[in-house]
Amino acid sequence: MLSIFGAKHKKKFRLEEYFRTLSTIPMEIAAFDPQGRYIFLNNYFMTNGIPAKEFLGKDDQYYFYRLGIDAESIKTRQKYFQQALKNKNIVQFTEKLHFPKKNRTFYYKRIFKPILDPSGSRVLAVSMFGNNLTHVILSQKELKYLAYHDKLTGLRNRDAFYDYLDQLIYETMRDKKNLSAVLFIDLDNFKVINDSLGHDYGDLVLQEAAQRMTQSLRKADMIFRLGGDEFTIVLRNMKREWDAASVAEKLISVLSMPYKVKGEVISSITASIGIALVPRDGLDRDTIVKNADMAMYAVKNTGKSGYRYYSVEMTHNSLRRLQIVNQLRKVIEKKDYDNQFMMVYQPILSKNGKEKNYKIIGIEALIRWQNPELGAIPPSTFIPIAEESKLIQAFNQWIIQRSIEDFREIQPYHNNGFYLSLNASPKSLHSDGFSRNLQNALLRNQLNPNSLQVEITETSLLDNDALTQRNLTALAGMGIKLAIDDFGTGYASLNYLQKIPAQTIKIDRSFIDKVNVDPKNQELVKAILLMGKSLNKNLIAEGVETQQHLQFLEDNACRQFQGYLFSKPLPKNNLIGLVTEHNMELTLP
Ligand code: C2E
Ligand code: MG
Ligand code: MG
Repeated sequence: MLSIFGAKHKKKFRLEEYFRTLSTIPMEIAAFDPQGRYIFLNNYFMTNGIPAKEFLGKDDQYYFYRLGIDAESIKTRQKYFQQALKNKNIVQFTEKLHFPKKNRTFYYKRIFKPILDPSGSRVLAVSMFGNNLTHVILSQKELKYLAYHDKLTGLRNRDAFYDYLDQLIYETMRDKKNLSAVLFIDLDNFKVINDSLGHDYGDLVLQEAAQRMTQSLRKADMIFRLGGDEFTIVLRNMKREWDAASVAEKLISVLSMPYKVKGEVISSITASIGIALVPRDGLDRDTIVKNADMAMYAVKNTGKSGYRYYSVEMTHNSLRRLQIVNQLRKVIEKKDYDNQFMMVYQPILSKNGKEKNYKIIGIEALIRWQNPELGAIPPSTFIPIAEESKLIQAFNQWIIQRSIEDFREIQPYHNNGFYLSLNASPKSLHSDGFSRNLQNALLRNQLNPNSLQVEITETSLLDNDALTQRNLTALAGMGIKLAIDDFGTGYASLNYLQKIPAQTIKIDRSFIDKVNVDPKNQELVKAILLMGKSLNKNLIAEGVETQQHLQFLEDNACRQFQGYLFSKPLPKNNLIGLVTEHNMELTLP
């Protein structure tokens, strides 16, 4: 090996000395001649048990081949070697050595240091130092893994999603042709699991859901958990826009299968999925996410369990929402309630002993809104918006006051037990002062609490928590009647029903509506009626529009009704007219 340095003894001596010193340093050290052949390897240099001298005079091609290192890794080393030769200076780099057979990868911090002749103009040799950084790099990778993954499900997390999306957008803009989809997935009714069975059950459901989704996707599809029960999936290189729909359908079907958790079978979970296409629905991260999210909400608002593509119309809807919020704010600011809002009242009837004769036992107060700019807006539209924007509190007070005042005018025509039924919006039940407000209003207007009924929707009970429970108990304690409204549209379990101190169940209009066309639906209504009876609840059928509806209900022992067949909701004076004319009774033709 020493011969290659030629005849100059002094120099030869110097290099030998140098290498001798290097031999003792406990790190990997080797040296190459300018052609890249090994001229020195110290004892620490990795040879995998092959005697070091076998490599002397051979180059890295041979070394990599003998050790079974992936030939790809050699390129980096050669590049920096050339650089060290050319610049006659130290270069440092990180080297990744992959051993395909063992499927292991090592990481090295490498330094090439050229050894120059005394004049400094010629490179005699290049020494190479190596530090095995594998464990450091791996722990860095682990840190990165932790930073980009969700602990519970092992899926990538929100940060990873945003990075991935940014990269996708960049590539889409560059390549133009790419078509991708972002699916925004939210599990339906997940909160109920957490609230009723506990978080450990919830966690297991999420893990199972993550696994089911992963299994039904292709390798190239990326799935992320944003938090809670929200997931996103990115589908790249789609051929057609509707490819995303078949993926969504598949996901909904796997996610809706029952979950077996610690011996419990949970079958209420479904999924709502919103789809935004890239580039069609946006070319920046926020727009894409917002649009997919909006599409997901559109699914939630129309009965959950399904998927939807984002459409421009959704943006229109959200503009409409904005207008409604702005107008509601104005009403509240100017205290313009009396000019824009009005309460109407719909009779609730009970079958009398006489044929086709029904007694008015109560009235439900329903709000109407006539806005100078937007026209008439139905409560089913603006109440949820008022709730979400937290504006409802401001005019709840007005609703309570106006309805009670009106009721005091109607009540003198009353029979015993005649009551006013007020709708409580889901969020108001969740607020601190709800029962107190109502109590104050009763005192102020000297109204007996048992002339009042509060309707709470079944869905609002799903957010059942300590506060809601306290409000309900307080209302019941004051002697106010409670009714569960829109029954059948939520997923309240029997367990829930028993916990709520409500005497009355109002069967949702959507069931009554289909009673004469859909035999399955008939069975459902019968079952609800039976269940109500066995729980000792009072049942009211909502939305009774036809004689056939009524006939079916009476045949199945339902005694109380509300609906257009008897009367539409009426302004106070019209209602007074109705009750006085008929002496609180209605006889159908
Ligand atoms: P809800 O409490 O279930 O009220 C019954 C709805 O069914 C009312 O719609 C009523 O007009 C309608 N209805 C009654 N009988 C029939 C029928 O035979 N056929 C049909 N097609 N409809 C019938 P409305 O007044 O549009 O109210 C919709 C929802 O808005 C209510 O559902 C309630 O959840 C909410 N809401 C209305 N007024 C108020 C209010 O003052 N406060 C709160 N928090 N919510 C209200
Ligand atoms: Mg109601
Ligand atoms: Mg209802």
